[in-house]
Amino acid sequence: MQAPSVGGVMLPRGNGQVVRLSRGASLTDFAEKINANPASLVAVMLNLGEMVTATQSVTDETLQLLADEMNYTVEIVSPEEEDRELLESFSIEFGENEGGEEMLVSRPPVVTVMGHVDHGKTRLLDAIRKTNVVAGEAGGITQHIGAYQVATTVNGEDRAITFIDTPGHEAFTAMRARGAKSTDIAILVVAANDGVMPQTIEALNHAKAADVPIVVAVNKIDVEGADPTKVRGQLTEFGLVAEEYGGDTMFVDISARQGLNIDSLLEAVVLTADASLDLRANAEQDAQGIAIEAHLDRGRGAVATVLVQRGTLRVGDTMVAGDAYGRVRAMLDDTGAQLEEAGPSTPVLVLGLTNVPGAGDNFLVVDEDRTARQIAEKRAARERNAAFAKRTRRVSLEDLDKVLKAGEVQQLNLIIKGDASGSVEALESSLLQLDVGEEVDLRILHRGVGAVTETDIDLAAGSDAIVIGFNVRAEGRATSAAEREGVDVRYYSVIYQVIEEIEAALKGMLKPEYEEVELGTAEIREVFRSSKLGNIAGVLIRSGEVKRNTKARLLRDGKVVAESLNIEGLRRFKDDVTEIREGFEGGINLGNFNDIKVDDVIATYEMREKPRG
Ligand code: GDP
Repeated sequence: MQAPSVGGVMLPRGNGQVVRLSRGASLTDFAEKINANPASLVAVMLNLGEMVTATQSVTDETLQLLADEMNYTVEIVSPEEEDRELLESFSIEFGENEGGEEMLVSRPPVVTVMGHVDHGKTRLLDAIRKTNVVAGEAGGITQHIGAYQVATTVNGEDRAITFIDTPGHEAFTAMRARGAKSTDIAILVVAANDGVMPQTIEALNHAKAADVPIVVAVNKIDVEGADPTKVRGQLTEFGLVAEEYGGDTMFVDISARQGLNIDSLLEAVVLTADASLDLRANAEQDAQGIAIEAHLDRGRGAVATVLVQRGTLRVGDTMVAGDAYGRVRAMLDDTGAQLEEAGPSTPVLVLGLTNVPGAGDNFLVVDEDRTARQIAEKRAARERNAAFAKRTRRVSLEDLDKVLKAGEVQQLNLIIKGDASGSVEALESSLLQLDVGEEVDLRILHRGVGAVTETDIDLAAGSDAIVIGFNVRAEGRATSAAEREGVDVRYYSVIYQVIEEIEAALKGMLKPEYEEVELGTAEIREVFRSSKLGNIAGVLIRSGEVKRNTKARLLRDGKVVAESLNIEGLRRFKDDVTEIREGFEGGINLGNFNDIKVDDVIATYEMREKPRG
């Protein structure tokens, strides 16, 4: 049979056969499936009026269009489906408890705290952690590892609750977007003096969409003018009716600041879980769950917090998390204590992975190192392929003209680097949701965890991209490379700020500039080693003041040897303090960072908006 041709090009022709392609496949992938020459598919696309190279990833629509033209039926396989198939090829099933009912034991609920900005989510998470840490541990320098577990007593019974402690729904949504269900119950925080606000509704909708029961924490009841009754009334309109009004949502009036009614809130969480959820898991199978947060640590390599959802994770297990794999070298909880094993609903910090998994990536324990590596490699390859299709989207600017005239750009290219996979992904998904219309592309060319490197600058220079450093700085020669190449590198530490600025840039508005302001410097006089907290720097404050929870960098012989550190713990004698002034001595804990020496200088800083001249 003579093959039909379009404009002189031989057209591969199907009979409606089904071709399965993964999202982000290229014409070459397509051609392989139907035994055709990739060049002929490029020609077909040209004929259809689209210039596409053979190896470039294309959108679902392009694949459909091409298939229609050649009389094939294309089936786009979603990443989740593909992953399921990948695991099946190793005879692994993810997401189900092994064995029957009799294997299931009850597990603690996993809770996310959501609500409007400034309504007290962070404060509440801190308050819960403080009032319920194991006795004796109070006052110790705990680490934020992305999740923690607390104990409470309900009806005379000891019950545990796991909190995901990245407040806000961005992280929640980013995880859900990847098909991961991390949360059993959402606590919706509403400030009683402020009432229901836009993000309250947004959070509520996210929880509803995920089919997660809600407990409402009416916060700040200590503030004058607080009106908890009004909050109840407002939320009724959104389908959350308080129990005392005949509904089935528990409302608890609290003060995160004063630590008021925190126990009642925890009790409400447990009761809501008992009433509406069947939280059980097999504790004996190979562990499975999700990665919540991960970052690269100078001393310890990839560090990931995972939430075990079923099975028990043990030191020495071989695991795959997203496209990272490795043997569990050590496990720590949020107090820095070493664990040998972790059962269902337990969050643990895992050391030993080859690289950094993404927030929301699933993890599973497998029998052999080789299996782990193969799964990880296949996932990495798929991720690369899918990257393009996923990151391209069309947006438009009101005053597109200005932008186009100024730089002749048709699209705004971004490279995102951040301190942790959770924040990078949250940022990415928020940016991709920016809705400015239909005419300009916002493309995220690359994203990753770690400092801004020379490679990032090269990529940016080659594609006119702006580099966003979220809680990270440029590393070594990257700064001079950026200057040389004229690459715009912008540093941020607040997600909303990035989004606002990018949105403003897309709209062609004036962008605020930020400058770094040094807060203080501390000279390390002595290094104390603590098995639980790592190294503590005994310091003398040389200038300014050092505040807890500010950013810092470490200088050795005048050179920056570490960036993006955080003053996690600050002590004077035996007391935790929030700041220490010039001329005083104290102790500084830099969290996971331990590479400190006598005579090193810790310089702390914050980013402030620069007034426009
Ligand atoms: P988030 O943006 O929701 O995480 O809010 P934060 O936890 O950062 O709290 C915002 C501000 O409200 C901070 O200044 C808190 O100290 C304050 N705040 C939080 N909870 C309470 C409370 O129960 N009472 C009072 N008076 N202030 C609170």
